[in-house]
Amino acid sequence: MNVVDSEVVVAILQKQDYEVTETMEEANLILVNTCSIRDNAEQKVNNRIKEFGAQKRKNKNLVVGVIGCMAERLKEKLLEEERSVDLVVGPDAYRELPALLTEVESGQKGINTLLSLEETYADLSPVRLDKNHVSSFVSIMRGCNNFCAYCVVPYTRGRERSRDPETIEREVKELFDAGYKEVTLLGQNVNSYRWSFNDEAKADTSSSAEASEDAIKFEALLERIAKISPQLRVRFATSHPKDMSDELLMTMAKYPNLCRSIHLPVQSGSTAVLKRMKRGYTREWYMNRIEAIRKYLPEATISTDIIAGYCGETEEEHKETLSLMKWVGYDLAFMFKYSERPDTFAAKKYEDDVPEDVKTKRLSEIIALQGTLSLEGKKKDIGKVYEVLIEGTSKKSKEQLFGRTSQNKVAVFTANGQKPGDYVMVKVNDCTSATLLTTLLEDEY
Ligand code: SAH
Ligand code: SF4
Repeated sequence: MNVVDSEVVVAILQKQDYEVTETMEEANLILVNTCSIRDNAEQKVNNRIKEFGAQKRKNKNLVVGVIGCMAERLKEKLLEEERSVDLVVGPDAYRELPALLTEVESGQKGINTLLSLEETYADLSPVRLDKNHVSSFVSIMRGCNNFCAYCVVPYTRGRERSRDPETIEREVKELFDAGYKEVTLLGQNVNSYRWSFNDEAKADTSSSAEASEDAIKFEALLERIAKISPQLRVRFATSHPKDMSDELLMTMAKYPNLCRSIHLPVQSGSTAVLKRMKRGYTREWYMNRIEAIRKYLPEATISTDIIAGYCGETEEEHKETLSLMKWVGYDLAFMFKYSERPDTFAAKKYEDDVPEDVKTKRLSEIIALQGTLSLEGKKKDIGKVYEVLIEGTSKKSKEQLFGRTSQNKVAVFTANGQKPGDYVMVKVNDCTSATLLTTLLEDEY
């Protein structure tokens, strides 16, 4: 999400004749787009700010700005505590950047951390900063209303709002016309996407049923995007288990270019922990949704996010996470130690009482198990044939290209004149826990 937001910021600044530089030394303006999700993300930013401070001593005209979630969370404090910071801009105030930069040029500090109920930057075409021009992100909504007890996002990114589907479709078409072959639709909770063209007018009528009938939900948006071209792969992240409906899965089943991989963060396998997390579902509900995925999309892989050592987590509850991981057989997982975020429900209500060494031990058990599951999942692919969208040259050898299957598994193979953006068929010979080792099937394609 920060990648897309940075691309929006570049679009805004290019209109003011700013250009992107390759290195920090060439720049007169450095903006660091920040994440507050865990304390270690913020610590990384603090270290970067120190580096920029050192650069400022070399270049007296350099302006340094902090944008994004940390700007929103810390506001004026950033200006008070970090002398090298000139500018602080929250995620909904990027349109104000040119005006704020003018203030900074006149010797003042610039700050705007107002959150908005409407801003989606829908009319702006992000300036793509990726190098390969194969795959790109498209933001379809902003903010989050879920208020999971541990999470800072609803505070730093504000209320949930969906983007006008016309502008989403236009942006995806532009990307496809420019040669992109894959888009990932982004939001904190994409499957609660909802757009009504007449929201304001409907507010005057007494019939809310009428309003919701007209609304475009996520599956309808997905269908519109899938229809742009069968040659365009479509992914999306992140889905919330409570909104993972059968209708969405049935829509996916209709379109082969809607990729067969679903990211469904579970956070914990224990119903009691999920309740303390305010996730809005139980272990059984989550398992039922996995069964629905298996039913409608039997070839889909499933990935997840897991938090180890949440407030009050017992050894039993941790074991429930391990057993659920085995039951699902995740192909991929993002795994984190719980990090208390100031002012969240959990920070106010619960004690962060799992000792650091226990968190570390539980996280390493989760990581080790996931390593085994990832390897097992890939071993099952040996002997099978997949279509791969080529993304680039393998780090290990120039002769080897890499790409992904629809299931989001990375495949490497020895190329024969193919290039990023091409689709090829490959046969899987072997694997590691992260990669499918494959051979190109040229004749069959
Ligand atoms: N909106 C998405 C995820 C957003 S944040 C969702 O709800 O699934 C990405 C991941 O960071 C979360 O899924 C969670 O696993 C992790 N995370 C969020 N807050 C955290 C915290 N305080 N400590 C540790 N991990 C956290
Ligand atoms: Fe955070 Fe929960 Fe919203 Fe995801 S759904 S961003 S975890 S509050």
